Amino acid sequence: MSRTVVVLGGGISGLAACYHLSRAPRSPKVVLIEASQRLGGWIRSVRREDGAVFELGPRGIRPAGELGARTLLMVSELGLDSAILPVPGNHPAAQNRFLYVGGALHPLPTGLRGLFFPAPPFSKPLFWAGLRELITPRGLEPDETVHSFAERRLGSEVASIAMDSLCRGVFAGDSRVLSVRSCFPSLFKAEQTHRSMLLGLLLGSGQSLLLDSPLISQARAERWSQWSLRGGLETLPQALGAHLISQGVTILKGQPVCGLNFHLGKWQVSLGDSSLEADHVISAIPATVLSKLLPSEAAPLAQALAPIRAVSVAVVNLQYLGAHLPVQVMLGGSWLQALEDGGQTLPQELFQQQAQEAVATQLGLKKSPSQSLVSLHKSCIPQYTLGHWQRLEAAAQFLANHQLPLTLAGASYEGVSVNDCIESGRRASAHVLKEF
Ligand SMILES: Cc1cc2nc3c(=O)[nH]c(=O)nc-3n(C[C@H](O)[C@H](O)[C@H](O)COP(=O)(O)OP(=O)(O)OC[C@H]3O[C@@H](n4cnc5c(N)ncnc54)[C@H](O)[C@@H]3O)c2cc1C
Repeated sequence: MSRTVVVLGGGISGLAACYHLSRAPRSPKVVLIEASQRLGGWIRSVRREDGAVFELGPRGIRPAGELGARTLLMVSELGLDSAILPVPGNHPAAQNRFLYVGGALHPLPTGLRGLFFPAPPFSKPLFWAGLRELITPRGLEPDETVHSFAERRLGSEVASIAMDSLCRGVFAGDSRVLSVRSCFPSLFKAEQTHRSMLLGLLLGSGQSLLLDSPLISQARAERWSQWSLRGGLETLPQALGAHLISQGVTILKGQPVCGLNFHLGKWQVSLGDSSLEADHVISAIPATVLSKLLPSEAAPLAQALAPIRAVSVAVVNLQYLGAHLPVQVMLGGSWLQALEDGGQTLPQELFQQQAQEAVATQLGLKKSPSQSLVSLHKSCIPQYTLGHWQRLEAAAQFLANHQLPLTLAGASYEGVSVNDCIESGRRASAHVLKEF
């Protein structure tokens, strides 16, 4: 008899889980439940009448590494090759990276030569930070904040400037509270296995699976730094949704799950006035949301998940007459969260004003934008704070000890990038298929 898998959450993680389940040789019955009326979660593109696309969430996906290649493979399988908009390695956007420090933009050194000369915002050539890194002994702590890790290995200037910017850019977070082990596992592992982060990154893990396809080969040959899709990145979840329907997956939209109960080996997934029975549940909703839906017998699991909170981000899209592309500015993160936690609500106009000021000083676009869109995304980027790995271990232990047919996927756990989320869905589906 065919088993039923219910997937909670129609963001990219839940969609990826359904995609891989539906492709299995003996695919179970798959039901995807999404609270809102649309699929894609934070991946959202607003297509304007004049053809401009405003991205309200992610605007670029990295093709690098095994996960980048896996996403490209899925893109090809969905027939989206011709919609890809890549940023090739020889494009100025790929070659020039800047840090905004002390009210000015500073180009990051390119090539080996740049490492031997002092260049602002750094007071010394980066070569010295590299040398220090190579001779610093391995850390002994099971986890460390990103700032403390970088300060120990690279010195306080690189930690405060470069690693702090990285944490803001990827997690909209504070390097002094984020965990290096969970936010940047490749750096943590590189130190653990090779004693030096640089040596580890240089030598690699040696286990990378070399996937190939015409699109992956093209991305490698043209050294893409990232890619998007014509019509915006939301094209990807939309194509996934259409594909899933063609594969017989049931998609329920506008149906927030409001409770989970486990009885006689089956889940009862409550949708308010109705419920569904499931042999296995894949949760691809935020950890804090899941923690509130779990039955009382799973209280230790709920306790492990509840602290995995997310910060809010304001995204401001601005369009200027004569400029080729709209500009996306992200503001907020953990700093905005601190204000929100203190009960303050900031007006939308303030975000727009701050974004316009940033664009005027950093890009020289001083005129008023012809179009603008401000979106405040509440609790959108999970923060893997110190000890995150212990919370994941506690959750995994509970699930294993109680043989609960529940698998966790999504941005709350092991990576927030679109590639990470797609991989979490793939792994969740592989785990379920192994159990059946
Ligand atoms: C502003 C912003 C910019 C970003 N930029 C980039 C970028 O440039 N590149 C990159 O790689 N990544 C980027 N990211 C990260 C990435 O987009 C997200 O981490 C990823 O999309 C999260 O996907 P998800 O499916 O795990 O979660 P979500 O997108 O949060 O999806 C979860 C889904 O679950 C649904 N849900 C919630 N509660 C319930 C319930 N009770 N019942 C049923 N459904 C429920 C929600 O409605 C939602 O659709 C960005 C994120 C944000 C917010």
